[in-house]
Amino acid sequence: MKIYDVAIAGAGPAGISAALEARKRGLSALLIEQKQIGGVCLNCGCVPTKILLHAIKELRRIRENDPLFGIQADNLHIALPLLRQRIQRTIFRLRSGREDQLKKSGTELVFDTFLRFSKASDTLWHLHCQNGTYSAKNLILALGGQDHTPSISGISKVLENGIAMHSSQAWDFHEVPRKTAVIGSGAAGLEYASIFAGLGSEVFLFEAFSRLGGYLLHPETAAYLKSEFEKRGIRIFLHSEVKEISSDGGILIQGEKTLFDKIILAAGTRPLDPSIFASEAAVSRHDCSVCTNLPGIYIAGDMSGKNMTADAAEIEGITAIRIICGEKAVIPSEIPIRIYSDPEILIEKPFFLHSLPSSHFYEEKIALASLKNHLLTHPKDQGFQILIRSSGENKILSSITIGEDILS
Ligand SMILES: Cc1cc2nc3c(=O)[nH]c(=O)nc-3n(C[C@H](O)[C@H](O)[C@H](O)COP(=O)(O)OP(=O)(O)OC[C@H]3O[C@@H](n4cnc5c(N)ncnc54)[C@H](O)[C@@H]3O)c2cc1C
Repeated sequence: MKIYDVAIAGAGPAGISAALEARKRGLSALLIEQKQIGGVCLNCGCVPTKILLHAIKELRRIRENDPLFGIQADNLHIALPLLRQRIQRTIFRLRSGREDQLKKSGTELVFDTFLRFSKASDTLWHLHCQNGTYSAKNLILALGGQDHTPSISGISKVLENGIAMHSSQAWDFHEVPRKTAVIGSGAAGLEYASIFAGLGSEVFLFEAFSRLGGYLLHPETAAYLKSEFEKRGIRIFLHSEVKEISSDGGILIQGEKTLFDKIILAAGTRPLDPSIFASEAAVSRHDCSVCTNLPGIYIAGDMSGKNMTADAAEIEGITAIRIICGEKAVIPSEIPIRIYSDPEILIEKPFFLHSLPSSHFYEEKIALASLKNHLLTHPKDQGFQILIRSSGENKILSSITIGEDILS
């Protein structure tokens, strides 16, 4: 049986970047995928949502800005069937491109379901798949996570009858719902609220925490986002944990039942438990590394439960290969977070204000218009950047920017 230097289970961003890095460094690489190349990001996450977001932002910009520049256009609207075609074609093209790139790199790609791994010797692992067994000196588990279903009474019924769906399925729709509920205001929830509001749906956004984005967003950024969302017609319910949904899509708001045509569950992703794939010992990842308690076994991407973004997944896949090659590599602690909602948010050096006494830092606020030539092309944008500096050394601890087009 062929022995691979490295086998990778899961061909999402983490698995693909690991495979390409392994081949770049001359290691033999096997990549096992049960569905499609590209994982959640390409097939049902980042890519489809970013195309939808691009469309609604363009539409709004034309509507709001063009009259200011004297441009007149009538009957502006989004033709959903054409937009869907664009999404499907892009996914197909990116997927084929990735597959080509993997083949050209010399990665052996196997479409199979990875079931478990077992120890063959101190330096060799057997990988048991539905249709065969493989052997490798190192194994990277990059199997991603599962959509989290919040515990809401009646949730299974609305998931079954199609009124509710998780954020990884919500991009795939043929009609704009009249009323949409988005449950959760993390990155996916903020993006979907922007998408459906931009398409003309009446959006209600429910968040259990006291501000949008939970601890992730600086309070001033969260307040600005809330006011921008409200200008776009999004109704925001903070301190509002949805406890019950009736089978016809009803949610109680201030004692009154409101019916929704679509309910999007954006309550996050839960990492797959790596131990369910281990034959003997339990397996767990060290906090700041991709290494586990088992030598030769690594965990990268969403499966680690750490950063849960495609950017972080790619970095972790590459880091695993660097360690396999004998380098002392660690995952950078400051992977930026990009939220493509409308307006967009960039958090460089993510930092949680509540984790430090206020005497240890101070804040500086800069209007976006003074940062770049923003006012010429975005005459209405009031976005800003907040720099959080440490009191002693005047070091930048974090920077948060909110505004139009800051991520492109
Ligand atoms: C709506 C939405 C929008 C998002 N937008 C962004 C964004 O703008 N920017 C960003 O950085 N991130 C975004 N994300 C998050 C991003 O998609 C994930 O962080 C990223 O896909 C994680 O990559 P991964 O390789 O760890 O896992 P995945 O992408 O989940 O890939 C895991 C792969 O493993 C395969 N697999 C699972 N089990 C098995 C098995 N037993 N055998 C074989 N194969 C298996 C799966 O089929 C899948 O292909 C978004 C997510 C969602 C849901």
